[in-house]
Amino acid sequence: MKIVVGGIVQETNTFSPILTKIQDFKDIFILYGKEVIEDLADKNIEYAGIIKASKDFGFKIIPAIACNAWPSGKLEKGTYIKLRDELIKRVDDVKDYDAVILVLHGSMAAEGFDDTEGNLLKMLREVVKEKPIITTLDLHANVTKEMVTNSDVILGYLTYPHTDLFDTGYRAAKITIKIVKEKIKPKMVMAKLPLFLPPQTTSTKEEPMVKAVSKAKNYLKDYNFLSYFLFTAQPWLDVHDLGSGLLVVTDKNFEKAKDSCLDVAEILWKHRHDFDVKLTPINDAIEEAKNTNGLVVLSDAADSTSSGAPGDNVNILQALLDKEFNELSMLTVVDPEAVNLAVKAGINNKVNLNLGGKMDKIFSKPVNVKAVVKSIYDGKFKLESKTYFGIKMNMGKTVILKVNNIYIIVTEKRVIGYDPKVYRYVGLEPKNAKIDIAKKMIDVDNKGLASSNFSILPYKNVKRPFYPLDYDAKFKVQMIS
Ligand SMILES: [Zn+2]
Repeated sequence: MKIVVGGIVQETNTFSPILTKIQDFKDIFILYGKEVIEDLADKNIEYAGIIKASKDFGFKIIPAIACNAWPSGKLEKGTYIKLRDELIKRVDDVKDYDAVILVLHGSMAAEGFDDTEGNLLKMLREVVKEKPIITTLDLHANVTKEMVTNSDVILGYLTYPHTDLFDTGYRAAKITIKIVKEKIKPKMVMAKLPLFLPPQTTSTKEEPMVKAVSKAKNYLKDYNFLSYFLFTAQPWLDVHDLGSGLLVVTDKNFEKAKDSCLDVAEILWKHRHDFDVKLTPINDAIEEAKNTNGLVVLSDAADSTSSGAPGDNVNILQALLDKEFNELSMLTVVDPEAVNLAVKAGINNKVNLNLGGKMDKIFSKPVNVKAVVKSIYDGKFKLESKTYFGIKMNMGKTVILKVNNIYIIVTEKRVIGYDPKVYRYVGLEPKNAKIDIAKKMIDVDNKGLASSNFSILPYKNVKRPFYPLDYDAKFKVQMIS
């Protein structure tokens, strides 16, 4: 058996002004042919799961192109078309194969393409014809009708925080083998709701997600479905047909699959208010930190680079300076201009510069800092957290600025904030800090391009009514596939 494997992964925040270009993919990876196997086999990523399955079950992988960029603004049109066409050509060039496994995200948008994955799958279907296409997505996917129509199977991460990237690849390979060997014809059944669920409240280990997940798991077992995929979409994708729901893949019990999808969708809708994020005003959060023993993580989710925000919003830093906060604190700011000035000044020298607030001009403005340049790095290391374990990170040239007792990691490129290695790489131990402004997770009510205070964001494309943008929206749960 021969399976062609490839993919394009990026999560788009359509509010971000920063277009995603080829260089952003190069910074993480663009791999061709056998490089896919050589570079990714030992990482926590879908490709590694497929590679392991090929050894366990004895099929041959024909790698096409695999590329990932970190969450950010839309893909530049030319970048998307180049990567899409390259992938399709490489699949088309392989004449002898049994199936295609495509590794995608599901919430990627490009200039002129709100549903890039749908467009990619539609065009791929034209060359793959009747052979099976098995697609993997992120739990934060916005699964569209176009994606469902042009895939034979859609699978996705079952965890948030995402720990099962490898497992998702492995599951995709197993189901592909089943389709090819047993010649089964699976069908996808999906209920989709006009709501998105904020990442902060959708841990698959916590309520109310646990209720929906355990129901879906039970149905999978009871009715022998091939798989389920509970997708939450992500809130910063302003596209017409945005939504969350349950997708079931099955080759039997179709009516039960429909009932199961409707039931789980009803649970999400019924508990929609329980997913609301409770936010704490910046000054209150700083006061709380002052009155707490030990480390406090101020989660600046509003500027989370993991949600595609620019990572240069300095409102919390400004508040810390205004309050003359003087305990050991750490944070990151993306600002290539400031990095350049600090490098010119050199280690142990003073700089006076305007930091951050240059990309997110809507919600932030630069803060003036008089700082000492403590150290300079090249910004390259491998991630150590479970999500994308082992994947190379490139923060670009990186400097540590110290203002009072605040250590500011200033980077040329955007930083994924959920991995403590970002701090440890530059010799800082976040556990020793009083305050660590993580660009991820919960709580502080900062205004930013990935805010969970959705009323401040300029949604204009998503079909209304939509929850929580229309807080009292009424809706009857329905099937879309
Ligand atoms: Zn995700």
